Amino acid sequence: MSFDYDLFVIGGGSGGVRAARIAAAEHGAKVALAEEYRMGGTCVIRGCVPKKLMVFASSMPKAVEEARAYGWQAELGAFDWTGFRTKLDAELDRLEAIYRRGQSGAGVTVFDQRATVASPHEVRLADGQVVSAKHILIATGGTPFVPDFDGREHVMTSNEIFKMEALPKRILIVGGGYIACEFACILEGLGTGVTLWNRSPLLRGFDAECRDLIVEKMAARGIAIHTGLVVQHIRKSEAGLVVTAGDGRSETFDAVLYATGRVPNTAGLGLAEAGVTLAPNGAVTVDDWSQTNVPSIYAVGDVTDRIALTPVAIREGHAFADTVFGATPRQADHELVASAVFTRPEFGTCGLSEEAAREIEPVEIYVSAFRPMRSAFAGGDEKVLMKLVVSKATRRVLGCHIVAPEAGEMIQLAAIAMKMGATKEQFDATCAVHPTMAEELVTMRKPVRHA
Ligand code: NDP
Repeated sequence: MSFDYDLFVIGGGSGGVRAARIAAAEHGAKVALAEEYRMGGTCVIRGCVPKKLMVFASSMPKAVEEARAYGWQAELGAFDWTGFRTKLDAELDRLEAIYRRGQSGAGVTVFDQRATVASPHEVRLADGQVVSAKHILIATGGTPFVPDFDGREHVMTSNEIFKMEALPKRILIVGGGYIACEFACILEGLGTGVTLWNRSPLLRGFDAECRDLIVEKMAARGIAIHTGLVVQHIRKSEAGLVVTAGDGRSETFDAVLYATGRVPNTAGLGLAEAGVTLAPNGAVTVDDWSQTNVPSIYAVGDVTDRIALTPVAIREGHAFADTVFGATPRQADHELVASAVFTRPEFGTCGLSEEAAREIEPVEIYVSAFRPMRSAFAGGDEKVLMKLVVSKATRRVLGCHIVAPEAGEMIQLAAIAMKMGATKEQFDATCAVHPTMAEELVTMRKPVRHA
């Protein structure tokens, strides 16, 4: 049977574009890709990239304050949100164009429209065309989840935050995960009054000692944090959005950001009709090869609800392309995936938290907490926390957690050693780079506790 394409990819985000490019450029497949919004997906258009640029913008007041402490005559003026947003939009246009060129350069045909699955070998485009493909890859990512409540229509999500007309004076952020905590810090840094409500403790699931420090520092900077609170309803008034919580309290804000998780983007995609098994939350169920129960249909990235991170989606997409179109079958590796939470202080983490590790085996805990040189000189109150969770039996470093400026950069390097199976003794055998913050990772002599 002949098909229009060897591969049809639905979704032009991190996983989809990587799979399409590798299948076409490296393995000679005839590939098409459909994207209904903008090429680059959540990460590039309304996620990691614009978020990180906002993190940089929000860190400038602190830099100016430090500059003064270091002897510079420096004044902080007002923040020009419109000017920043215009520049941000231009940068995203530039990046989107690079993604688009990457596809055309690889010979991938791009359809700028929505596509749905019509059958195990057919895709229906929004303009009515039906095209056939030997393989279909679902890479449609996730979408923000907002629970149901009265007044839900008044809130925004991370999809809208980069498009705000003006910075709110007072914002309520609901949620306590990556997005809620990152935006609380960003907006506070840009001058917005931030209140954060979550139903449970913030950053649940991460190492408790680290999240306690992050939450303490967020609160010390003036972010009003309330846990154990849920929104009951939101009413619009002349004064703003009046938000009432489950405990009866009411507060008025100019904007409300919901960051209560993301759900796989499969609604209306035609997957169930084509026989593809979906999880109760809509995630596409796949095996270790990213293959669904329908042999011609695969899925990678957030839509599969494995690890919702861009570098993981990229690896899944690449492994899929090599497996199905190349001569090198391989699976994406989901072990020891490091990540960073771009709060202030920043958090880099890899492997098991102390709480998770001690459930599995006896461990030693090494901790170094100190004031970083740069901030201490400037009279700042920053604190760095470095933590290693070490197996008593194998001596392997099972977890590394860093709360520090540039913790994301540090954890990337520590993750290499962990991936190689490094033991605590091998960390210790590595000579320190002095004076740095990261040198503490190789100079922690005695465990602070056994767990
Ligand atoms: P998270 O899953 O990280 O956090 C969701 C938060 O919302 C939790 O605090 C959760 O509370 C709360 N919540 C969930 N459901 C409800 C509900 N019905 N009512 C009230 N509160 C609720 O999601 P995010 O939206 O922050 O981020 C989504 C994903 O995107 C992340 O998991 C991550 O994989 C990725 N991401 C990664 C980033 C990075 O690498 N730096 C940055 C941003 C996103 P509870 O703890 O009780 O469940």
